[in-house]
Amino acid sequence: MKTKRAIPLVDLKAQYLDIREELLEVWDQTLHRMHLFLGPQVQQFEQAFARYLGVPHVLGVGSGTEALDLALQALGVGPGDEVITTPFTFFATVEAILHVGARPVFVDIDPETYAMDPAAVEAAITPRTRALLPVHLFGHPAPMHRLIPLARRHNLLILEDAAQAHGARIHLDGAWKPVGSLGDAAAFSFYYTKNLGAFGEGGAVATPRDDVAERLRLLRVHGQTDKYTHALIGTNSRLDELQAAVLNLKLPRLDLWNERRRTLAARYTEALRDLDVITPVEAPWAHHVYHLYVIRVPAAHRDALREHLMARGIGVGIHYPVPAHLQPALQDLGYGKGTFPVCEQIAREVLTLPMHPFLTDEEVDVVTETIRAYFTGATG
Ligand SMILES: *Cc1c(COP(=O)(O)O)cnc(C)c1O
Repeated sequence: MKTKRAIPLVDLKAQYLDIREELLEVWDQTLHRMHLFLGPQVQQFEQAFARYLGVPHVLGVGSGTEALDLALQALGVGPGDEVITTPFTFFATVEAILHVGARPVFVDIDPETYAMDPAAVEAAITPRTRALLPVHLFGHPAPMHRLIPLARRHNLLILEDAAQAHGARIHLDGAWKPVGSLGDAAAFSFYYTKNLGAFGEGGAVATPRDDVAERLRLLRVHGQTDKYTHALIGTNSRLDELQAAVLNLKLPRLDLWNERRRTLAARYTEALRDLDVITPVEAPWAHHVYHLYVIRVPAAHRDALREHLMARGIGVGIHYPVPAHLQPALQDLGYGKGTFPVCEQIAREVLTLPMHPFLTDEEVDVVTETIRAYFTGATG
């Protein structure tokens, strides 16, 4: 077997080299200024990202996890409230609900978008339901065109988890609208592997609501209105200047990089068409940004195919092998195995293939040929 270069799941070095010169200059200026938190870079980014999303307010915070926590707090969600969300997500979505003392109520997912199924959401609404927390999973928008009317009818808040979907859009009321601009608030993560990532931790809340923005502005700095006056009980969760500088350089390139992800995704999908796998679907109302390119493989083959790819230097992942409702930490919520059959079946089948804007066509071809070799029993 000839040795090939490894193909990692994500590789951000090329992206760094793309902005390196400009970044080192801005970082040097920033470090000379020694104003390292919530300074001019953060202000510039908050304004630029607000413009990009078409929302009045963006507030930088310490991470995507904290963006979810603080958004729920700012929305006034707390003890006694139920928040309907998806069990098929990164754990932080659910932690945030528990952190504010509310109760996560899970519903099963739609097998095409992997987002929570609107019919199941409607069936789960009780008098205690306060909010919906949809996740735009893998970069595909959740069906907001159905969730928004539902929330209006039942007087519920909407917090979007947009941590995986910077730049994704949904066709709504005759126009394409960015996710993160559609509810009462939205949480973004700038963890370095996300579509828009810093080089450390970072997050933001976007909101159309002045009252929510005002509370967030206080909550992220210990509820402080001025030095030594604390109007609210908050926390320490700030976006720092060095990270905001990275984001200011990357934001203008986000759409271009997302387009590259879409091109790569189309190449994967075309090459895998005749194999025994299910490739990602883009709903007609959705503009998918492929944070992750996730296929489904018959459960009996998933782990063997994963081994086959890893043995040949191809980085693969499983997002997510254990749904939230089956996590050991959440056993007290009382959901057992079999509660959400669609989600549980999909968790046994998913396999994440390499995806990032600097992946080459040739690398995609190596990955798809290696998958083909697995299914034809060839020793590729
Ligand atoms: C990454 C992620 C988060 C958390 O963001 P961090 O910045 O890592 O704290 C929350 N929800 C989802 C769906 C994510 O993918």
